[in-house]
Amino acid sequence: MAKLHHLGFPRIGNKRQLKFALEKFWAGDITEQALQQTATQLRADNWHSQQKLGFDFHTVGDFSFYDQVLDTSLLLGNLPQRALQTDNQLDNYFRVARGRSQKQPCCSATHTNNGETEAGEMTKWFNTNYHYIVPEFDRQTRFTLNPDNLLTQIKELQRINSQVKPVIIGPVTYLWLGKEKDNSDKLSLLPELLKTYQQLLQLLAENNIEWVQIDEPILALEIDINWQNALQTTYQTLSDSPIKLLLITYFGELKDNLDLACNLPVAGLHIDAVNGLHEVAQVAQQLSTDKVLSLGVINGCNIWKTDLNKTLSWLQPLHTKRQDNLWLAPSSSLLHVPVDLNSEHKLDHEVKNWLAFATQKLEELSLLGRALNDSVESVFEQFTENKLAIESRSRSNRIHNPSVQQAVTNISADLGNRKQGFDARKVVQNNYLKLPSYPTTTIGSFPQTNEIRATRKAKRLGQIGEQEYQQEMRKSIQFCIEQQQKIGLDVLVHGEAERNDMVEYFGELLEGFVFTQFAWVQSYGSRCVKPPVLFGDVSRSKAMTVEWAQYAQSLTDKKVKGMLTGPVTILNWSFVRDDQPLKTTCQQIALAIREEVLDLEKAGIDIIQIDEAALREKLPLHRSKWSEYLAWAIEAFRITANGVEDQTQIHTHMCYSEFNDIIESIASMDADVITIETSRSDMQLLDVFEAFNYPNAIGPGVYDIHSPNTPNIDQMVALMHKASTRIPSEHLWVNPDCGLKTRKWNEVEPALINMVKAAQQLRSQ
Ligand code: GLN
Ligand code: ZN
Repeated sequence: MAKLHHLGFPRIGNKRQLKFALEKFWAGDITEQALQQTATQLRADNWHSQQKLGFDFHTVGDFSFYDQVLDTSLLLGNLPQRALQTDNQLDNYFRVARGRSQKQPCCSATHTNNGETEAGEMTKWFNTNYHYIVPEFDRQTRFTLNPDNLLTQIKELQRINSQVKPVIIGPVTYLWLGKEKDNSDKLSLLPELLKTYQQLLQLLAENNIEWVQIDEPILALEIDINWQNALQTTYQTLSDSPIKLLLITYFGELKDNLDLACNLPVAGLHIDAVNGLHEVAQVAQQLSTDKVLSLGVINGCNIWKTDLNKTLSWLQPLHTKRQDNLWLAPSSSLLHVPVDLNSEHKLDHEVKNWLAFATQKLEELSLLGRALNDSVESVFEQFTENKLAIESRSRSNRIHNPSVQQAVTNISADLGNRKQGFDARKVVQNNYLKLPSYPTTTIGSFPQTNEIRATRKAKRLGQIGEQEYQQEMRKSIQFCIEQQQKIGLDVLVHGEAERNDMVEYFGELLEGFVFTQFAWVQSYGSRCVKPPVLFGDVSRSKAMTVEWAQYAQSLTDKKVKGMLTGPVTILNWSFVRDDQPLKTTCQQIALAIREEVLDLEKAGIDIIQIDEAALREKLPLHRSKWSEYLAWAIEAFRITANGVEDQTQIHTHMCYSEFNDIIESIASMDADVITIETSRSDMQLLDVFEAFNYPNAIGPGVYDIHSPNTPNIDQMVALMHKASTRIPSEHLWVNPDCGLKTRKWNEVEPALINMVKAAQQLRSQ
């Protein structure tokens, strides 16, 4: 009998209950006890709803108040010292997560310290949009097992179910994810760390646990011999423990680590059989038949229905051979998909029929299990429905637009080329745009006031008509333009009041997208995102931004910069169709946004910014595949941007601090100006320009918009001086490091006034 399990389920709740409880707790509105109750309830609800699926193992340890890596730090007694301010474990935990725990009522005017401390660094979890808190290590690091949370949850689940499988992050991945705070070598901590893991496994055995899921996703990365050896040592050492280990890898193929993974002394191995489908046969052959082979057959990172018939047909022979030793699961934790499709009542019916969220993915798995273990007939009806849905999706003319497909086929290399090179363009643009040296600008958005939000909401709910909406938005554009003129900026923007989100706005106006009501996915802590669903060929039926830009331009003699989101960012922040290469989808978006760029140009907008905040997001885990990804991603940007005349100035903006390793690709986008985030690192990020002669103009963000503080003029001047040691000063722009939508006008105004003064000083020097 094939056995069924899953690697983790979303913990936020189908209505984001956890988010709201956390935020209330942090604000001091509910007690810790109330927060814990919500958590217990959410776990119980998840477990109860999974009961009926007939899984052989029930997963525990996938719940977290903030992040599972931070939970592991807590479990191992490795929270940074600075956060350990009281005996309250949860308070200390939140201090690492977000710099503070619950808001305390102040006892006196002089009382300022309510436990604030520096939050732990946060970074992206492999190739997902989930972020984890980076573990901290130094020479003094010691581990002490702190198992209470996990044991409590295990006991909760054991009351419901007997076959309980805890999930923990493996020791090698844990070390890999962390950072040394001194110049010690984190791998030297492994022997100590393993002792703690041994204690943990011993303890779990004493608590009637038979199997433990131990996640080592670094098996999907290129790791050097030291890390390979660490895996050997680890699983050799842990093989003495009285518990069976199911070693887990996800987010990609094993590649060079395949032999290693198959030969580690563990009781079972789980692989990603979606991204690594072609490795299944080889793993099945190499992994001895007395070991469990767990196959991740349902995609844990996207939202499309699985083709059950197809999956069943390749699983059947494996099942015949391995029987009980074949386990089935989603490819990864379901943390990366929304909770339940049944919450969606307004979703387009046809598209809805093609989708599966976490709840539905577990049902798919259950059906596959029944087909293998009972009979194909027992699930005939459900498999037929699945087949019809898969066929309807592949045939639907909602998805396939021949003229879009033709346009993609017709893409030629020159579509992405400007007429002349940057140096020649620069002369044309200087004469045409007549900007001062060190020109000042902003990144696009201005404060989203309550009024603006209320207007958009009223429009959405049909409480106001198109005309009233237009009027209100125009008022806000006018206000923005007046403010910018008063402040004395050189290149103005309309302020993006009409946009709720930089991807959603365009998705709603383009063909090929649908939007959900509740398809939230955790990004970090209590923050969730609701990506649009890109289901079909993308095209633009009408201009999307031209009227706003044109109106803004009509109010001023200064240049107004048109504002668009780039194709790679739209792609990377959506749930994307899986029935054609990402490259093709990206080309379609590129062609659509290109039309908008050309329309803006025609409408007299001489400067156009195309944001690529998420350019790096889908950079493959394996470096060997970077160049392929970058080639089509950069080409898509070039197609979007480079059809304009020489005098039209193209800007792009990226919030990523990590562009150093892809700087050549960024340069080849050939944007006339790129604005980037650098202020937080004191321009250190510009070091890359010492080795690499960046050819075009750059606006290194001179102040951090994430802080409400007013930036200091001298500091900004000094930062620009630092920049000018690496970049020719005639290529420098002066701007904040990101959009201003989350700030208030009374913060933005003094900040930009100072920024303009800084630019004036630079010019006079
Ligand atoms: N133009 C966008 C804004 O200013 C850019 C946002 C971003 O970089 N994330 O809001
Ligand atoms: Zn930004």
